[in-house]
Amino acid sequence: MAKEFNKVALSINAHPDDAEAWNAGVLKLLKDKGYKIVIATMTGGDLGGCNMNMEETARVRYEEAKKAAAVLDAEYFTLGGIDGFLYDTKEMRLKVISLIRQVKAGVIFTHLSTDYHSDHRTTANIVEAAAMVSSLDTVPVKEKPVEITPLLYHTSPLTLSDPLGSQIVPPHFLWMSPQ
Ligand SMILES: [Zn+2]
Repeated sequence: MAKEFNKVALSINAHPDDAEAWNAGVLKLLKDKGYKIVIATMTGGDLGGCNMNMEETARVRYEEAKKAAAVLDAEYFTLGGIDGFLYDTKEMRLKVISLIRQVKAGVIFTHLSTDYHSDHRTTANIVEAAAMVSSLDTVPVKEKPVEITPLLYHTSPLTLSDPLGSQIVPPHFLWMSPQ
């Protein structure tokens, strides 16, 4: 029997608001084409608040991310990493593999490994490694492997430049005019 491509788009980024900044356009396009949309963040965005401690900030940002995801009828997950202190570990790779399998991702979007922000670069490496093995049944997670290794797309960093300021030229550019 032919393997079936899952029309599920998974956007995995470092922080709440990254999907909105970098993927929202393509996620909307795919939503309109009948894809299920899933948004995940590696961290809770714990450092991105004003006059709040990290726990309060993460709580607020979780609620904001869930509301933003709801605009596309998307599920939202956060994977427990700490904002500013994200490391490429076996634990984080396994969490991403589990998520890819749980939602049966067909296509994945994440940061570029030459992004300006270290959490973004780390996320790109974790997601790339996890996607690569998500169809292998030897990986030690309880979720069943996806049938087809998901397609993986990297999104361009802010200002289209790498950490040394060199310009990045994306091979594809999605422009959405305001409605
Ligand atoms: Zn970010």
